[in-house]
Amino acid sequence: MAAVQVTDAIWLVGSGTHPGVRTDPHDCHCYLIWDGTGGVLVDTGTGLGAEAWLATVAEVCDPGALTGAIVTHYHADHAGGAGAARAAGLPILASAETAAALASADETRTSLAVARAAGIYPADYRLSPTPVDRIIGAGDTVAAGGLSVEIVAAPGHCDGHLVGLVRTAGRHVLFSGDCLFAGGRVSLQAIHDCRLDAYARTVVDLAGRQVDALLPGHGDLVLDGAAADLDRAAESFRRLVPPPNVLTG
Ligand SMILES: [Zn+2]
Repeated sequence: MAAVQVTDAIWLVGSGTHPGVRTDPHDCHCYLIWDGTGGVLVDTGTGLGAEAWLATVAEVCDPGALTGAIVTHYHADHAGGAGAARAAGLPILASAETAAALASADETRTSLAVARAAGIYPADYRLSPTPVDRIIGAGDTVAAGGLSVEIVAAPGHCDGHLVGLVRTAGRHVLFSGDCLFAGGRVSLQAIHDCRLDAYARTVVDLAGRQVDALLPGHGDLVLDGAAADLDRAAESFRRLVPPPNVLTG
């Protein structure tokens, strides 16, 4: 398996669906930002494909040169691999909400119990308790070699969700986790902390920022013209109508 280069400084290093880098069917898209001197990972997958994922990272760079792994939110397909990443020496960076849930592998807060009951994860899948090394939040920046990832709070899909913005090769790239997807779709689930009002504020805020490329946690990557995707979602929310849900097709 080989890392899939997305831009000059960004690779897809894990995924549940991308044929080039399919680490485990349950994994989200996992990204590596690497400028040749340093970098950072964005999201860690479930952990079920951790060996393949970490090997793919090592094809591109020395993992020891990375700042760590940013976990966008505590859902298991994004956060479950944090333990494996940490065991490999990578510090974990996440919001306070994500840190609290991961510290105790809280299956209620992360909705893992209901997701597993719904058949989204294997019956024997569990999170392992994982400490977060650095709490990050709105306005923080995370160094990635000579690049810098701006952290933006993005609640709505779930509590404590963060997204990251990085400028590379003249483009503003948004790592959107499960907040926004190609076509301006969103991810709405019947879980305790999916909040439509917060989601609307988040999306309208993001649409007000300059974004050229959208690298979401699932599905198609948008490498150019992503402002149109963000505008579409924001316009829908401004009319008080939830945008199309990525989970329903
Ligand atoms: Zn999620």
